Amino acid sequence: MNSEVSLSPPTDVLIVGGGPAGLYAAFYVALRGLSVRILEARPELGGQLAALYPDRRVYDVPAAPAAYAGQIVDRLARQLRPFDIDIRLGEVARTLKRSGAGWTVGTDLARYPAGAVILAAGLGALLPRAAAQPEARTDWPFLPQQNTTAVQSAWVQGGVPQATRAALELADAGTPVTLSHRRALFRGTPEQLARLETHRQQGTIVVQAPAAPDFQVRAEAIWQLNGYLPDLSPLQSWPLDWQGEYVPAEPSGQTCLPGVYVAGDLSLSGGDFKLIALAFAQAALCANHAAHHVRPELKIRPGHSSDRRLPGDHG
Ligand SMILES: Cc1cc2nc3c(=O)[nH]c(=O)nc-3n(C[C@H](O)[C@H](O)[C@H](O)COP(=O)(O)OP(=O)(O)OC[C@H]3O[C@@H](n4cnc5c(N)ncnc54)[C@H](O)[C@@H]3O)c2cc1C
Repeated sequence: MNSEVSLSPPTDVLIVGGGPAGLYAAFYVALRGLSVRILEARPELGGQLAALYPDRRVYDVPAAPAAYAGQIVDRLARQLRPFDIDIRLGEVARTLKRSGAGWTVGTDLARYPAGAVILAAGLGALLPRAAAQPEARTDWPFLPQQNTTAVQSAWVQGGVPQATRAALELADAGTPVTLSHRRALFRGTPEQLARLETHRQQGTIVVQAPAAPDFQVRAEAIWQLNGYLPDLSPLQSWPLDWQGEYVPAEPSGQTCLPGVYVAGDLSLSGGDFKLIALAFAQAALCANHAAHHVRPELKIRPGHSSDRRLPGDHG
C-alpha cells in the first residue's frame, strides 16, 4: 500500500463489505446514532446479490416474498437513506492496524480510523474476471468519477446480467451499442429483457448472438463482462484465527480482536449455511455490540425501532 495515502476523519464504526450483512449492519449502527462508513470493493453495493444474481428471484428473505435480488439490494439501500453514511465504492480493504482504542483499515487510497470494525466481506472482494482484450473494461456500473456518457460507440460482450444492463444504460444515454455473446441467451429481469428487445427492434442495440469469441466490432469503448471471482486474499493476512475461509467469533460476533466483529457468509458461526436472513441476524448482533463497544454508555440491546420516528417518516 502507498504510504502517502490520505488519513480520513474517523468514524465510530467501519464496515468492510457492502453486501446484505454490511448494509444491514450499517443501518443498525446508524440507528444507534453512531457514525458509520462502508468500504466496498465493487463499484456498487449489494454483494453477491448485485454481482452474481440481481436478475433472480429470491423466495426466502423475510417480508420480501419473491423479490428479485436486485430489488432486495434497492430496499436495503433505501433503508439507509435517513442516515448520513459514508460509502466508499471501488476500494479494497487491505490492512488492519491498531490505533488508540480502535483500528485503522487501509486501502490503496486512504486510511480509515474507526472505534470498531465489522467484517462483512462474504466470500471475499467480488472482482471482475479478466478480459481477453487488454483495453476492455471489465465491470459495470462504473464508479461515478469514470464518466461513460461521452462514449460515441460501445461494444458490450457477455451474457451476465451486467452486460444486459450496460447495453441498456448506454443505449438509453444515446450511445450506439453492439451487444454480443457466444450464446443466444442474455440474463436480466423480464423488464430488462423486454427493453432489450425493444432496443433491438429499433436498432439502437445491435445484438450479435451466438457470436464467435473472436467476433470483432469497431467501437470506441469495449466492455467484456465475464462475471466475478471472490478474492479473500486482501484480508487473509489479518490476525483473525482463520479457519479456512471463515472467521470464528463469540456469540456477540466479536472476533479474537477486541472491537473487530464478523457477520454474514464470512462468519464461522453460520458455516456453510449461507443465507441472507442469517446475514441480517448476525449483522444486527454485531452492530449493537459494536455500538456498545465504542460507546459503553449505550446499552447493547437497541430497544424497539417501532418506539421511534426517523427523519423522512411522515406516517
Ligand atoms: C447464485 C446465488 C444465489 C443465492 N440465492 C440465495 C437465496 O435465494 N437466498 C438466500 O438467503 N441466500 C442466497 N444466496 C446466498 C447469499 O447471497 C449470501 O448468503 C449473502 O450474499 C451473504 O451476504 P454477505 O453480506 O455476508 O456477503 P456478500 O454478499 O458476499 O457481500 C460481501 C461484500 O464485501 C465485499 N468485500 C469483500 N472483501 C472486501 C474487501 N477486502 N474490501 C472491500 N470490500 C470487500 C465484496 O465485494 C462484497 O460486495 C445465493 C448466493 C448465490 C451465489
